[in-house]
Amino acid sequence: MVEKVIPIRLDEGRGLTPSIPGQLVTPNALTKDTRGRPLRDLRISVTDRCNFRCTYCMPKEIFDKNYPYLSHNELLSFEEITRLTTIFASLGVEKIRLTGGEPLLRKNLEVLIEMLAKIRTTTDQALDLTLTTNGSILRKKAVALKAAGLQRLTISLDGLNDEIFKKMNDVDFPVTDVLDGIAAAQEAGFTNLKVNMVVKKGTNDQEIIGMAKHFKGSGVTLRFIEFMDVGSSNGWDMSQVLPSQEVANRINAIFPIEPIEANYPGEVAQRWRYVDGSGEIGFISSVTQTFCHECTRARISTDGQLYLCLFANEGFDFKTLLRSGRSDLEIANAIMSTWSGRNDHYSEIRGSNTVATSIRKVEMSYIGG
Ligand code: SAM
Ligand code: SF4
Ligand code: SF4
Repeated sequence: MVEKVIPIRLDEGRGLTPSIPGQLVTPNALTKDTRGRPLRDLRISVTDRCNFRCTYCMPKEIFDKNYPYLSHNELLSFEEITRLTTIFASLGVEKIRLTGGEPLLRKNLEVLIEMLAKIRTTTDQALDLTLTTNGSILRKKAVALKAAGLQRLTISLDGLNDEIFKKMNDVDFPVTDVLDGIAAAQEAGFTNLKVNMVVKKGTNDQEIIGMAKHFKGSGVTLRFIEFMDVGSSNGWDMSQVLPSQEVANRINAIFPIEPIEANYPGEVAQRWRYVDGSGEIGFISSVTQTFCHECTRARISTDGQLYLCLFANEGFDFKTLLRSGRSDLEIANAIMSTWSGRNDHYSEIRGSNTVATSIRKVEMSYIGG
């Protein structure tokens, strides 16, 4: 039985107030946190709602009809998200991932994508604009997303066996509709698609080989994610984590694989490829092989709180700042000042510190995975 949790945003009020330094400087990409990490990626949660109830993310005992989802005026508007993203881009952010909840449930999301696609980085490039979805309404949306300027897509799928998949999404959603969403994305012209599979030992690990076989040679990169202790509601314990190394061993025994270089420093997934040349796979090993030392990511929650770590229990209230008449320069300086004080490295201390695993953490559907 999962323990009922009270959402952090309600019982603890607004987040921390970001401080605006007395002396303002021109926004630049040089700010590093206390561990020397620059700010390069931003994940934006565009809704805290979802049509799935994945047991590891939004278990239905907690995310039921009484759950206090945010109301529309509590969400950042498209204009506010665009303004904030423009400021983040002036500070060196190059990559944006839209997430949630289920981002495709946010009405007219393609309008936001069109707005974000116009933003330029400090080196005058377009942002690397990407989105993670459960794929359930991708058939309906893929063409519009592509036309709006979305560059890349990641689709989550935890198995090919309907019974197992339905047990994980907990809303009886069939595998075929997600596969059809993936096909729709390909037809719309998306290349380099990624599929994320969260592996829960004893629940869907028997799907690993079938998934590898299905996507091998298809041009889609399958990535295995270790089940993480995000939030406080998913009843996580280490015995349900299948280490990536073991997933790799199982695949290697049937389809030989070898590691390859990361695309860029701070890349979350470790890249491997099939020795026979039939494509790539990836491993996101947040539990057993931590990557905090090169974590360059910040997150904006659905209601405009800036979180410096997926496992943070407090955010900084940038929504209030955005709505208080402050200038872009002041907000940029507040972000630089907040980032320069960042010391988060939760995954590194999780193993050695039992206190770390018992702190209350914010739900992933609210700050975005
Ligand atoms: N609804 C979209 C989806 O499922 O793709 C986007 C949001 S979801 C929170 C983002 C990603 O986080 C998904 O790939 C999901 O599988 C992953 N995720 C959620 N809870 C997780 C957990 N406890 N451990 C590992 N990954 C998790
Ligand atoms: Fe929804 Fe994605 Fe969470 Fe599943 S992982 S409940 S699809 S937000
Ligand atoms: Fe980054 Fe926090 Fe994850 Fe470490 S635990 S990689 S600091 S988000």
